[in-house]
Amino acid sequence: MSRQKIIGPQATSRSDDDPQLRPQRFADVIGQRDVLERLAIAVEAARRRGEALGHVLFDGPPGLGKTTLATCIPNELGVPVTYASGPALKAPRDLVPFLTNAEERSVLFIDEIHRLPKAVEEYLYTAMEDFRIDIVLGEGIQARTVSLPLKPFTLIGATTRAGLLSAPLRDRFLIREHLDFYELDELAAILLRNAVKLQVQLDPEAAQLLAQRSRGTPRIANNLLRWARDYAQSRAAGVITPQVVLDAMQMIGVDPLGLNRLDRRYLETLIRVFGGGPAGLEAIAHTLNVSADTLQDEVEPFLLRSELLVRTPRGRVALAKAYTHLNLPSPKDSHDTTGTLF
Ligand code: ADP
Repeated sequence: MSRQKIIGPQATSRSDDDPQLRPQRFADVIGQRDVLERLAIAVEAARRRGEALGHVLFDGPPGLGKTTLATCIPNELGVPVTYASGPALKAPRDLVPFLTNAEERSVLFIDEIHRLPKAVEEYLYTAMEDFRIDIVLGEGIQARTVSLPLKPFTLIGATTRAGLLSAPLRDRFLIREHLDFYELDELAAILLRNAVKLQVQLDPEAAQLLAQRSRGTPRIANNLLRWARDYAQSRAAGVITPQVVLDAMQMIGVDPLGLNRLDRRYLETLIRVFGGGPAGLEAIAHTLNVSADTLQDEVEPFLLRSELLVRTPRGRVALAKAYTHLNLPSPKDSHDTTGTLF
């Protein structure tokens, strides 16, 4: 079976992030007011005491600002930061240089912390709690373990799957913050600010249209903005007007709800081939010739959140809103497969 990956402006991969657009200070961050307020208090208190900030865990879907906040914190504290990623730390020895080189009160950021192997995770426990690690010197019978003190540092972990973190690791984070999706006005404000940074004129009404298609996610908003800029500069007069947004989005198949072609194919297949469901994920995946993982990770979460789809014990079912959105006749008129759902 061929595997289809989502690419293009709606992809949430980090590779095409423009560091130019990433806020560097709390004052530049838009939205997440409650989270920011709590962080600002903790940061200010740690700064005044001259102590390391307590360890921080951010969780939430991709593209909502976990790395952004982790970048702002060391800037606010006036301390250096080192970046690491969970999957790259394969064994405790990979972690040792990060810990021993950490300066007093500095920040170590570990992205995708839920992907740390168990042995590395366990090695972190004493480092986080007592600022100490055990290292083995020498080999064979000469080998001995020494306890090495570390400078007090702050670990900031980011995860899209907080549920996968073990309780002992989770409990060692003093500050735990969940990031939620953004409101339309917040996304429009991000888009208008970033248009200035990208030196392109963005009409406020066009910003609203882009915001509506951004799935509540700043990273998607930024990607759509870059595409609209390219489109405006090569096909229009260089200004992002509402018409430019509509034309540019049409070209990449992004509709007013922010659904892409694969999202719509999924719903159309569920409705046309499976009579709206219930249908099993594997069956839908086979019909679409797309891997079930891709559907589960990259398509279904947004359809579920948008109330276009529900997952029932018997399988996936398309909701009334999906029929309306796709302009398809509702099964209420012919046969009702879901009983209470219509
Ligand atoms: P995550 O780490 O949660 O996947 P990022 O922090 O990398 O997400 O955010 C993706 C991009 O979205 C950033 O480069 C930044 O430009 C933008 N962004 C995220 N959150 C905000 C915010 N609150 N205000 C402004 N821009 C934001």
